[in-house]
Amino acid sequence: MELWQQQLKASLTTPAQLAERFALDAAALEAVCARYPLRITPQYLDLIEEPGDAIWRQCVPDVRELHDDQAQVDPLNEDHLAPLSHAVHRYPDRVLLLVAGTCATYCRFCTRKRKVGCRGMEVSFGEVMAGIEYVARTPSVRDVILSGGEPLLMSDLLLKEILERLRRIPHVEIIRIGTRAPVVLSARITPSLCALLRQCHPLFVNTHFNHPRELTPEAMEACLRLADAGVPVGNQTVLLRGVNDDAATLEELFRALLKLRVRPYYLHHMDLVRGTGHFRTRLETGLEIMAALRGTLSGLAIPHYVVDLPGGRGKVPIVPESVEKLGDVAVLRAPRGERVEFPQYLCSDNPSA
Ligand SMILES: *Cc1c(COP(=O)(O)O)cnc(C)c1O
Ligand code: SF4
Repeated sequence: MELWQQQLKASLTTPAQLAERFALDAAALEAVCARYPLRITPQYLDLIEEPGDAIWRQCVPDVRELHDDQAQVDPLNEDHLAPLSHAVHRYPDRVLLLVAGTCATYCRFCTRKRKVGCRGMEVSFGEVMAGIEYVARTPSVRDVILSGGEPLLMSDLLLKEILERLRRIPHVEIIRIGTRAPVVLSARITPSLCALLRQCHPLFVNTHFNHPRELTPEAMEACLRLADAGVPVGNQTVLLRGVNDDAATLEELFRALLKLRVRPYYLHHMDLVRGTGHFRTRLETGLEIMAALRGTLSGLAIPHYVVDLPGGRGKVPIVPESVEKLGDVAVLRAPRGERVEFPQYLCSDNPSA
């Protein structure tokens, strides 16, 4: 067994184990875990400094997950946009393949909480192959995203098979892998995995750091190994109440990621998923953070703040207001708030010219 497989096997999976480690009421958590699964890798568990901290909130079940019943189970309508059970085809050129049904650590705020880790949600080889065949017969698809679940819980051998099949499809231009392994199971990013990925270029990895404390030496090494294999690494952060909903925390995170050559790609507003209400912030919170980052952080380190619209209508970027007035002399707002005139009568597509 490889080191990462041993670590995965040593993960914490029951409320009793949690109760043993921290002073907790295991019985209350049993009810949560009966609906939403629990798994925390040793690496992520060791990052918890005290109950209630930013790491704890992301991975330890909370009774509030059972309270939030107004939101929907599948607000992005993924189950109905799916041409097959394990492919989501929302944009003409991009297909998201759900190639894994389990994760190394279950994030309590997960958008696919209804599915990942639940019994009967494992993805079979046949289902993955059906997804690849769908891509093969749909020429508008240029970009295939391997998602899940955690795609990197599969063996190198299986991953190689999937990647090679995708690479043989002429219209597939780029492949992306969405993974939280660098954060919660860094040992998964082995030299042999990196060697495999570098044979499948252009291949992009999007990882998922939410807090600067997740940037441990092993997590940072995992990112650097990917970057050194020529893999452009992006990061998708979820804006989480009580975890990272302030500008200073996100500024530190994005700055540190950029130094690792990991480019902050998206800051996701929380989806309206049932069982995650205690993580949800208002849009105003995200907008204030984005406005603060704009003045203090390199543009390379600033992600797009996006909302995935309910009903599967797609992601839209949300930006702080910077256009105050258009017209011959437009008025724009600078990062610090002052109003600056922008003389549009100098533009050559000016209708009055
Ligand atoms: C987010 C998403 C994509 C990829 O969108 P990008 O903006 O190109 O990163 C593709 N398909 C689905 C279903 C998605 O949710
Ligand atoms: S790793 Fe991704 S898919 Fe898995 S629980 Fe976390 S957010 Fe959900």
